[in-house]
Amino acid sequence: MGQLDRRVAVAIAGSSGSIGTQTLDVVRAEPDHYRVVALAVGSSIDTVIAQALEFRPTHVVVGNASDRARVSEALPFATVSCELTDVVEPADVVVNAVVGFAGLPVTLETLRAGKRLALANKESLIAAGPVVAPLRDTPGAVIVPVDSEHCAIHQCLRSSDNPSREVSRLVLTASGGPFRGRTRNDLATVTVEQALAHPTWSMGPKITVDSSTLMNKGLEVIEAHELFGVDYDAIDVVVHPQSIVHSMVEFTDGSTIAQLSMPDMRLPIGYALGYPGRIATPFGAINWAEVSRLDFSAPDISTFRCLDLAFRAGRAGGTAPAFMSAANEIVVEAFLRGEVTWLQIADTIETVMDSYSPVHPTSVEEILEADSAGRRAAAKVLSR
Ligand code: MG
Repeated sequence: MGQLDRRVAVAIAGSSGSIGTQTLDVVRAEPDHYRVVALAVGSSIDTVIAQALEFRPTHVVVGNASDRARVSEALPFATVSCELTDVVEPADVVVNAVVGFAGLPVTLETLRAGKRLALANKESLIAAGPVVAPLRDTPGAVIVPVDSEHCAIHQCLRSSDNPSREVSRLVLTASGGPFRGRTRNDLATVTVEQALAHPTWSMGPKITVDSSTLMNKGLEVIEAHELFGVDYDAIDVVVHPQSIVHSMVEFTDGSTIAQLSMPDMRLPIGYALGYPGRIATPFGAINWAEVSRLDFSAPDISTFRCLDLAFRAGRAGGTAPAFMSAANEIVVEAFLRGEVTWLQIADTIETVMDSYSPVHPTSVEEILEADSAGRRAAAKVLSR
């Protein structure tokens, strides 16, 4: 007793989802180096109880006050609360795997506390980038992205002592989704089922549709701009169907550095937990005897127009990405209900964007307002 526990203290906000459970896989693989100190879920009570019984965190957060008594009773060793940001205090590194705007307070609080943020929450950068950016100057605060592309770029950038002078472009790879190689004509009649059949990654329906339209890649371009401060003119997207090269950085001397591995999200998660070191357990290591080829091609932006719309929102800046991302969500939901065709997704988003003038947000409220404006505007266009 009384011995100092030198293991890295990990908090996971959103522990019941795909990133959350895979984070626990990584901790399970390295029990001598990492310990779980806090877990947070919305309503997946049975899951968090089972996770907590295995990992013995000191803090557990549940979304609903009505679940608190039951969870407390099942976990007498843990402090149980309903405030998501309570996960930050006991942690050295906070994995933010919360889906949606609910994750934003975790990002803000982790950075304010000067801690390492393993960031998988998309809204924190796509919608709230301008509000998150100033907090990154807090001493000790660092964002390590948990997304295969941004993790790759983060790794590649470490090959330069002076990235702001020496980077000439970021190259994000895209699998191309299920409709790679198809023309606009081919895609006029595609079904929801066809859009949901992704070739290399298995994800939820919304993000799978985003991958079929390349909106997902467009949102990642905005994230890359926010994370790495690189101009939109210096960010390229290249289609790479094998999903082995996760992204690349081209430097001023003509060198390109790429990060390669098999698709396995536990690698970016382990990278964020181990940063600035590397964990000892390999995830996604390549068997070169089985990799026969790596293909690359330019994206077909006249067919996959959402990529361009995202660049347009990113260049407009301010609240434009929040607005566009919200509008996209509403239009994708309409597609999943069979109310618009696949081709109409981009057309509708473009019409919605044409009516919007972004502002530079200085508060979370302004971002949430842009988000609801995007939803309202998309619903209005769809109802015509
Ligand atoms: Mg990605």
